[in-house]
Amino acid sequence: MIRVSKNSILTIKPYIPGKPIEEVKREFGLKDVIKLASNENPYEPSPKVLTAIAKHSRTLNRYPDGDCFYLRQALAKRLQVSPEQLIFGNGSDEIIVFAARVSLKKGDEVVIAKPSFLIYEIASKLEEAKIKMIPLKDFRYDLAAMKRAVTRKTKIIFLGNPDNPAGTYLSDTQIKDFLKGLRQDILIFIDEAYFEYVDAKDYGNSIELLKTYDNIIVTRTFSKLYGLAGLRVGYGIGNAKLIDVLNRVREPFNVNSLAQVAALACLNDEAYYHKIRLEAKAQKEYLYRELRDFGLSFAQSSTNFIMIHVNNAPAAAKRLMRKGIIVRDMSPWGIKNYIRVTIGLPQENRRFISALKDIL
Ligand code: PMP
Repeated sequence: MIRVSKNSILTIKPYIPGKPIEEVKREFGLKDVIKLASNENPYEPSPKVLTAIAKHSRTLNRYPDGDCFYLRQALAKRLQVSPEQLIFGNGSDEIIVFAARVSLKKGDEVVIAKPSFLIYEIASKLEEAKIKMIPLKDFRYDLAAMKRAVTRKTKIIFLGNPDNPAGTYLSDTQIKDFLKGLRQDILIFIDEAYFEYVDAKDYGNSIELLKTYDNIIVTRTFSKLYGLAGLRVGYGIGNAKLIDVLNRVREPFNVNSLAQVAALACLNDEAYYHKIRLEAKAQKEYLYRELRDFGLSFAQSSTNFIMIHVNNAPAAAKRLMRKGIIVRDMSPWGIKNYIRVTIGLPQENRRFISALKDIL
């Protein structure tokens, strides 16, 4: 057996993904299984995206464009930033890893909400950083406590906006107030993986903040609304100098060529994704109504998933799985009595509600 270089690696709990549909079919002898466990978009990519992928699959003998040239140009134009302000990742996950790699050394500190997206913790542990977890209050960030947790050694603060698993967001004013008085050599990592789903009026424009702060990175992804979770492509936006540093730890061909053409095609098919956004919103309202009618409480979400209060979450998740519906039990995140369900297709949501009523 090899000797593991850092003890912190052995303290990392491997990320447990939602169970794949095929596995649940096999395990429970089911024919029709739906997955509402990984916050994916339930719709397939747009016809334009599928055509672009089919066309470019003929060039798979070539390495991808390591610079993501066309995607970079298109996104820079859309976001009104310069192309040098963008970095692309094998999912936005990878940019979290880059950020930790360039900012942290042994003994440094990071501030993370608890619970929050697990990769913040995994990436920080890999760099032997000390993690300060600040519990959510009513499923929202306790920014005052997060600020109090900052010390001389703090190097990154992770803000999932909106975050997973709670689904709640931080307003423009909250973020601006939080930034006031913080040292400007702390990396403020604003993770906007669910950006496209937010419709709160007081949700800010984080890209505007980049004009004032050179220590902020904002990340977004094509995995959620744009439905390319299987291809893995996300991006970060920040000051060109910060992006240059992150780029130094990036592998040359980290974003594959199909992901690049598919992401570009998504940007050119806004009408399709606008429809999906509206549908997700309507379906969220449907789920809220049904849950309220059934007397279940839930956390108001700005994303494509909802945390729902049930009395025994592990049992509820198991019973739903036996009925062919995969959701997440939130106990491993330290949230007792909640399941997290991703908003699916209308028929999937109806089936979920009916099964939930059955098992409770
Ligand atoms: N941030 C948050 C809060 C997420 O929930 C996810 C996906 N589960 C990601 C980032 C990463 O998404 P991806 O790597 O697919 O871009």
